[in-house]
Amino acid sequence: MDISKLFDHKKIIYSLEIFPPKKDTPYNVIYNTLLKMRGLPVDFISVTYGAGGSKAQREKTIEIASLILSTYHTEPVAHLTCVNSDREEVHAELELLKANGVQNIMVLRGDISPDVPPKEDFKHASDLAEFIKDFDPSFNLLGACYPEGHYQAESLEQDIENLKIKIEHGVTHLVTQLFFDNNKFYEFLEKTEKAGIHVPIEAGIMPITSLRQIERTVALSGASVPARLSRLFSRYGENPRALFDAGIYYATEQIMDLIDHNVRGIHLYTMNSVETATRISDSIQNVIEAENNPINAA
Ligand code: FAD
Repeated sequence: MDISKLFDHKKIIYSLEIFPPKKDTPYNVIYNTLLKMRGLPVDFISVTYGAGGSKAQREKTIEIASLILSTYHTEPVAHLTCVNSDREEVHAELELLKANGVQNIMVLRGDISPDVPPKEDFKHASDLAEFIKDFDPSFNLLGACYPEGHYQAESLEQDIENLKIKIEHGVTHLVTQLFFDNNKFYEFLEKTEKAGIHVPIEAGIMPITSLRQIERTVALSGASVPARLSRLFSRYGENPRALFDAGIYYATEQIMDLIDHNVRGIHLYTMNSVETATRISDSIQNVIEAENNPINAA
């Protein structure tokens, strides 16, 4: 199913993001994760792609996306990066996605690693979008966006101008980088709207539930951390269960505020945690249901 059609009849969509098992993690870990996530009320599950990984590692994305569709009967979105691929490799992946019935692709450039020189065929996600649409226009394309600007863009305004190229080449729906300050997202929406971007933008939310995440993810994403969130880190950083609860609480509040501001979608970065996905989904599912079916809200 082309998930862009969901926006025709839903006010707000809800999705999860997972990653394929790392090199030494047994497959049954991800099978169990998906089995437990199966009952959650989601519109799609997206599967990340290791830009710098081996061919076998990268093919796991397609394998898992295909499993989500065939076994769990949920719509998958396969992420696909292009920075380390040539046309032949992307062509082969598209054939595989098509053969497996995966119709939705998140087109990405991928991060440029200092150790792996980028290949020449695709410079930007927009080049990948153009290539895919030429290959088969029935693929539905999603793309990434950055409420606080991509780290290589000279300004947020320039980054937004560049986003328009992705959309011109067939991206129908954007998903944001994680953010913790909703005001940054609202300002971004205003700017994209003014720049003439009218595709739905899903808000990417990552509950911070462990010290490790604070150290790695928060630092790497470059997302600004509001004082209230920092206070939760310092207050509960030494108490893993309390930090988990506080992280879920903060993310749930963020989501409720986004829904109140009529966001078109919530994309939850689950980090493959069933507990995170379940706790957030449980606390927002009736609200999303009421937004989509106001007649049932009472
Ligand atoms: P691009 O859209 O190509 O943008 C990169 C930079 O180039 C930006 O500064 C932009 O302003 C500029 N630019 C864009 N288009 C043009 C153009 N046509 N001309 C000139 N300049 C241009 N990484 C992974 O490896 N695997 C994943 O599965 C993955 N999933 C992600 C999912 C989401 C929702 C997000 C937000 C990010 C994800 N990433 C993933 C990270 C992503 O690969 C990096 O952030 C990467 O640095 C940029 O990718 P992009 O697709 O946004 O690149």
